[in-house]
Amino acid sequence: MNRRYSSRSPIETGIRLRCGNCGQGKLFRAYLKFKDECDICGQSFSVADTADGPAFFVGFLALIVFTPAFVIAGILPETTTGFVISMTIMSIICLGVILLLLPPFKGVLFNLQIHHRAEEGKFSSFGEHGVVPENCKRNTPPRPDQLPKS
Ligand SMILES: [Zn+2]
Repeated sequence: MNRRYSSRSPIETGIRLRCGNCGQGKLFRAYLKFKDECDICGQSFSVADTADGPAFFVGFLALIVFTPAFVIAGILPETTTGFVISMTIMSIICLGVILLLLPPFKGVLFNLQIHHRAEEGKFSSFGEHGVVPENCKRNTPPRPDQLPKS
């Protein structure tokens, strides 16, 4: 596997739905399903997981953009039929935009994880009561009984 990282931005390659490592291979095999690995460079696509991140960002973006549009579309029609038609049209547009934005957002978040080699946090030890864990000893201030006596 080629571990050379692309000089391209992970945001640019994510928007284009391309591999964050080489910038050429396709990320998805289906609508929001990643391939197992890149066809071009062999980068494994199982090393990162975007979880609910894309849905969170796209949902809040849609909330910010479409809330005023829904309010206006709800106020302007003078008849019930006009209200139902405007709400139906707004709902279809909102759903379409959300479905259109999910793959690029997922690609960008995934490529950012690959680019920064993000992974789950790991503890070397959880420590015991009164004993500082190994991974926390470097930045621990000295206890009063460890201070030099003057
Ligand atoms: Zn690749």
